[in-house]
This record gives sequence, C-alpha cells and structure tokens, in this order.
Amino acid sequence: MAIDETLFNRAKAAKGFMPDDEGLALHDAALVGAAVGPLLEIGTYCGKSAVYLGAAARAAATVVFTVDHHRGSEENQAGWPWHDPTVVDAGTGRMDTLPFFRRTIEDAGLEDVVIAVIGRSTTVARWWGRSLGFVFIDGGHAEDVAQADLVAWAPHLAVGGVLAIHDVFEDPADGGQAPFHVWQTALASGDYEDWRRTGSLRCLRRLSA
Ligand code: SAH
Ligand code: MG
Repeated sequence: MAIDETLFNRAKAAKGFMPDDEGLALHDAALVGAAVGPLLEIGTYCGKSAVYLGAAARAAATVVFTVDHHRGSEENQAGWPWHDPTVVDAGTGRMDTLPFFRRTIEDAGLEDVVIAVIGRSTTVARWWGRSLGFVFIDGGHAEDVAQADLVAWAPHLAVGGVLAIHDVFEDPADGGQAPFHVWQTALASGDYEDWRRTGSLRCLRRLSA
C-alpha cells in the first residue's frame, strides 16, 4: 500500500534524519510488521520517522510507540556535526526535542496513533510487557548504546516481526560503524533473515525467538 500523500509531505517537511526513499521503505516494512503486532521506534528526535511509521500504523489499524529521552544522542550535542542549536532549551542549555515532536505529530494529525514514551530506551525495555511486530533501532549510535538497544528490545519482537536498523554503513568512510555491527550481531544470532535494504536502512525478519 502506498503511503498517504499528505502524510508523506508532512514527513518530508519535518526536521530530522530520514531521507525520503528510506522513509518510504520504513513505511512499507512497518506495514508488514504491523500484521504481527504494534510498532516501536527507538529514537524519536523531532518525529520525522514517526510520521512514516504513524502512516503505516494508521493504515494497519495499530499504533506506534516511539521511545526517546529527548536529550539528544552524544552525536547531537554541541560540537558534533549533528547538532542543531534550535533544539536547545534556552532556560537550561540542554537539548529538548519533545516540543518539536509534539508539533510534528499534531501537524500530521497523528496524535491518536503515535504514542511518545519518554525515557531511556533500556529502562523502558526492562519494564515493557507487550510483544511487538516491528522494532526500529535509530537511537544513540555509540557502540555500547546501539548494541544495548538490540539486547534490550529483541526479546520483545515476535516471530514473523520485522527488525529495522538505521544508519547502517559498511564502509567507515560513509559513517559510524555501530549500527552495522548491530545488524551483524542480529544476523549472527541466527534468529533473523536478511530481508530488505534501502540506502542505510536494513530490515530483518524474525525467524525464531
Ligand atoms: N528517528 C529520528 C532520528 C533519531 S536521532 C528521525 O527520523 O529523524 C536519535 C535519537 O535517539 C535522539 O533524539 C536521542 O535523544 C535518542 N537517544 C539516544 N540514546 C538514547 C537512549 N539511550 N534512550 C532513549 N533515547 C535515546
Ligand atoms: Mg538515523
């Protein structure tokens, strides 16, 4: 099913780190996962990818949970290339992307299907109690943080569900290696099949638990 045109335009206009073609691939993979269970994203930022996922969730009559502490990853802080000074709270000097996310989802009309969970990914995962049809790992890209997300969330992904990983670069010249290593770790477990790739987005299907 093609993405809703209005939502595609909203996603394209939103602040964030999701190229159009990868966003469409994310939407299509989420539709497949949605047949198995609800969707979950790690790394909300300002809600750009959440609009793609929300479009799929709405089409499939399910929901997407999106987890973020909204304080930015290491690579989003001042001095790093992915820093945006407009998302810094002037009162505290800390990053706060939550207001931007709220606006993105309100503008897209997706408040009924995109559900923000505000907190550290591994803490939320420890208390999570519902199996999922789709898990999208796009949180912190430091090696320990990214690997911890896989360890924490993989047990919650149902057999037949989809594991999507963003910013997978095999060549270090193209970007950091942690998401690529997470993809390798998942495949090496034997629990997934290598399913789809679009740009830096890789999707695996869960074969066994
Ligand atoms: N998916 C977004 C981009 C996410 S950027 C888009 O499409 O634009 C990565 C996000 O992960 C940041 O907002 C950061 O705050 C969040 N993050 C990093 N480490 C985290 C952790 N351990 N727990 C929760 N969120 C985390
Ligand atoms: Mg990303």
